[in-house]
Amino acid sequence: MNREPLPSQVDVLIAGAGPAGVPAAIQAARAGVSVLLVEKSAMPGGTATAARIPFPGIFHAWGKQVIAGIGWDLVERCVRECGGTLPDFSQPPARHWQHQVAIQGPIFAALCDEAMQQAGVQVLYHAMPAAVERDGDVWQVTLCTKSGLQTLNARILIDGTGDANLAALAGCKLRVPEHTQPATLGCLSEGYDFAKLDIAAIEEAAVQAIAEGRLQPTDAGWDRNRPRLGGWLSSHGNNANHIHGHQARTSVGKSALEIESRAALLRLFRFLRTQPGLEGLRIQAVAAECGVRETATIVGRVTITAEDYVTGRRWADPVCHAFYPIDLHTSTGSGLDCRQLQPGIVPGVPRGALLPLGVENLLVAGRCLSSDRLANSALRVQATCMGTGQGAGALAALACRLGTSPSAVPHAALRALLEQHGAIVPPVSG
Ligand SMILES: Cc1cc2nc3c(=O)[nH]c(=O)nc-3n(C[C@H](O)[C@H](O)[C@H](O)COP(=O)(O)OP(=O)(O)OC[C@H]3O[C@@H](n4cnc5c(N)ncnc54)[C@H](O)[C@@H]3O)c2cc1C
Repeated sequence: MNREPLPSQVDVLIAGAGPAGVPAAIQAARAGVSVLLVEKSAMPGGTATAARIPFPGIFHAWGKQVIAGIGWDLVERCVRECGGTLPDFSQPPARHWQHQVAIQGPIFAALCDEAMQQAGVQVLYHAMPAAVERDGDVWQVTLCTKSGLQTLNARILIDGTGDANLAALAGCKLRVPEHTQPATLGCLSEGYDFAKLDIAAIEEAAVQAIAEGRLQPTDAGWDRNRPRLGGWLSSHGNNANHIHGHQARTSVGKSALEIESRAALLRLFRFLRTQPGLEGLRIQAVAAECGVRETATIVGRVTITAEDYVTGRRWADPVCHAFYPIDLHTSTGSGLDCRQLQPGIVPGVPRGALLPLGVENLLVAGRCLSSDRLANSALRVQATCMGTGQGAGALAALACRLGTSPSAVPHAALRALLEQHGAIVPPVSG
């Protein structure tokens, strides 16, 4: 069997190069340990790039920056590189999403690659962990590569898969909701002049198409009660539909979701092309993956609850801030349960939410951190994932350097390393 030219041992192995995994890898490598980042797809950025959601947020709360560091630096560099401008963060915006930052996904991916190369991260695309075993002091990880299975040792693992796939292989307990939030397939539609469309007439025709079974209510919008095709058409297919009833943590579940999301797009395409002004409709691009909001979280040493989140609970060992409304997408009604935070509240993330219960030397960063469903609906956004990623990378590197486990790294050392790399660490509880 051909072997991939990979090291037989690394300090830190990370699965997933999304908003959490990339800052984790850069932070760990900058702190001087060897890092291998294994990503199943072809590029970094995760949902931000592969699912066409290039709106990282939210880094600022109540007029000041609360999440910074490696993820923010990449986002800011991307805006600068593309000649864009940042929102004015000095005042709370009328709508929370106005403080998200629009980036160009492909350029963001290239900047993530560049930053990881500069930091000395070894990146392995088109590969996935297939098995994980504990062998004395190290993890033995078998990767599924293009050349077959290959095993290497790692001192600390970081799960940045969004789906807790690596944690599950390592035997961590997961919290898997029976019903997950709907997913969204992003695309880029062209070939029409929105200003010239009769949206009321198109939405009326959609009601008829739904009654006849040619269209589903959420093929073009989130609202089950009323087809909102105007939103889909004006945004050119961006973050505009809902695909329901999936469990996308597994290959089988993800396959069913991808197939259903493309079926929804095909239904919509066939319907829209019959409408005046849309005869020339083209789907110029579609996201490489259907965007998944929810799959599973780990059962951690600490579970962040909605109550912790909305009260801005202070923690004894915080890693980063979080900021976003509770934002639960639903399969009923208007499709969204959004609850703004009270003025002045800035939630935090404790180290214990990154540490699986009963398993040492493994950290989880990003969307699958330990939290209840409502808290997770807010914690899952990209800025917070970046903050937890950098925190996990720092804990992993310090654990290697100090010869201890991430749970035993002194908080002062964590704070010092994170602040050295630009991150904002919340104050500890009194
Ligand atoms: C439709 C939609 C709209 C959203 N809107 C916003 C928004 O406007 N602003 C915002 O900030 N956030 C938004 N979010 C949330 C946010 O984008 C995600 O929750 C966030 O990207 C999660 O980051 P992550 O790094 O934990 O996981 P992901 O972004 O999912 O990245 C995980 C990475 O791991 C890889 N991976 C997965 N499994 C494996 C495996 N087994 N082995 C190796 N690699 C693996 C994936 O390919 C991916 O690259 C939205 C999400 C969705 C789905």
